[in-house]
Amino acid sequence: MNIILIGAQGSGKGTQAQLLEEQLHLKPCASGELLRDAITHGTLLGQAAQPYYDRGDLVPDEIVVALILESLQDLGDAQGIILDGFPRTISQARSLDEALRKHGRHLDAVVYLEVPREQLMERLNGRYICKAHGHVWNIKTHPTRVPGICDYDGSALEQRSDDTLDKIAHRLDLFFSETIQLVTYYAAQGKLIRVDGTASIEDVNHAILDGLQPMRAPHSGQSTLQDERIAGK
Ligand code: AMP
Repeated sequence: MNIILIGAQGSGKGTQAQLLEEQLHLKPCASGELLRDAITHGTLLGQAAQPYYDRGDLVPDEIVVALILESLQDLGDAQGIILDGFPRTISQARSLDEALRKHGRHLDAVVYLEVPREQLMERLNGRYICKAHGHVWNIKTHPTRVPGICDYDGSALEQRSDDTLDKIAHRLDLFFSETIQLVTYYAAQGKLIRVDGTASIEDVNHAILDGLQPMRAPHSGQSTLQDERIAGK
């Protein structure tokens, strides 16, 4: 199964991707994390991406697409991929469709986590990630057991450099003007599943799994999807 999670910054994509990775045995592929890794290691792609990343702007397609395609080369024993943060534009979506087609794969579903903008600002303010693997935590909504330490790998937590109020506002503007167009794009392909992202982490997770159920059941396939489905209703 190959799925995409679409949602604004702070909608809970990262947290849900972590859960789905284990539940569905999917390889996670988060474009923001790939970029942070490339920037930290000072690779050529990382150096080219850094000025855009620091401003909270979209990194040019050729850089992001190259990183994503590289990461999709080796799926190990995963049963598919879960993309988080990519694609963010229609042109990236087209590049992805083409790349998957070349590898004889296709997208099964696109989950859109809907959260109103006012709530996103508040959530992003409390967000921290761990230094070792970028696991996502939130001091208000999803705290670690020991303050400042990641439950999964014991590494220290830090706030992202682009999680400052002005950059958060700019990134949300980009989401609601640019990335939101993907909702219409994938609805037209009959792949969109809308999920209320304001519910608890567990309820959102159940709603996503319910929405994906038709694709996970034996002998079912894309042809059974309606044009657009509302999960968890
Ligand atoms: P994220 O961790 O998904 O919030 O992404 C952090 C930053 O990485 C964004 O603000 C962009 O600068 C960059 N970025 C991540 N994914 C993409 C993408 N698909 N296209 C362009 N830029 C991206």
